[in-house]
Amino acid sequence: MLFEDLSLSKSIQKAVEEEGYTHPTPIQQQAIPFVLDGRDLVGCAQTGTGKTAAFAIPIIHNLHRIVGSSNKTKKIRTLVVTPTRELAIQIGESFDTYGKYTNLRQITIFGGVSQVPQVDQLRRGVDILIATPGRLLDLHKQGFIDLDHLHTLVLDEADQMLDMGFVNDVKKIVKLTPDNRQTLLFSATMPIAIRELAEMFLKNPASVTV
Ligand code: AMP
Repeated sequence: MLFEDLSLSKSIQKAVEEEGYTHPTPIQQQAIPFVLDGRDLVGCAQTGTGKTAAFAIPIIHNLHRIVGSSNKTKKIRTLVVTPTRELAIQIGESFDTYGKYTNLRQITIFGGVSQVPQVDQLRRGVDILIATPGRLLDLHKQGFIDLDHLHTLVLDEADQMLDMGFVNDVKKIVKLTPDNRQTLLFSATMPIAIRELAEMFLKNPASVTV
């Protein structure tokens, strides 16, 4: 299979080609069609398999179609929750890369640094928010984050979030989002606690494993 076979919008196909990608990796081949279709998804995949692009590319495609070129009133449509600052930054860079020919705006927020620049960025409006759990809840509590218009929630590295003690934060975050959202959960391992989380928050999810 080639990226061309996935019928992505031209602006995304161009960005993917510029990265030198011709063939989607196995997780991308399996996951991208489900995400494009709006399905919920459980993805069992480690870092290094191309899993970031497996969700970022179809999310950008769908958002680009929805908000089109008249993207004036920016609202958070996609939220990616990930356990660490390093992962958040990497995911942000991926959205930047694959979305560079769209006018979608994305920002990355994490703890351990001043919230002031992050709040400034949020105030300017954003389509895609990538966040670590603590800072997300903190800024939400202060009224800087509105998740009422969310289309897609990604829980990335779910097992690591649980290991780091974020389970209650993750549950709180999911409850701040609309019930009719699309939910994607990625985890390197699938212990019972992750399967329970998936059962609680995902609707009839497709399941892919690499
Ligand atoms: P990830 O698993 O998301 O951390 O991605 C691992 C690495 O694979 C990243 O450096 C990506 O740039 C690269 N990558 C992702 N998808 C592809 C692809 N289809 N072809 C070649 N490299 C890729």
